[in-house]
Amino acid sequence: MDWEDSMIKRIIALRDEAARAGDLEQVKICERALEGDQEAMTECERILRPTEVTIPFEGYCYTCTQAIAPHSKAVYTLGKGITHVECASSEE
Ligand SMILES: [Zn+2]
Repeated sequence: MDWEDSMIKRIIALRDEAARAGDLEQVKICERALEGDQEAMTECERILRPTEVTIPFEGYCYTCTQAIAPHSKAVYTLGKGITHVECASSEE
């Protein structure tokens, strides 16, 4: 899967998540990005960038599939899920 394909899938996931949350502004930005609007695409890319979070519950790493303990640091990527900090850095 090339970069653009996965980006489009993630923007669709972002749009669906925004729709569920009732964030109509974000839904519009995603739709513009999907139509090829560069500015909207940049905005979506910014939101989709992985962010470091402290997870409040036990989760499973999408990279190594091992459990991530509650209240530990993880990297969250919208449309993908959570991964260990070490797994995220070894993925590059
Ligand atoms: Zn992991």
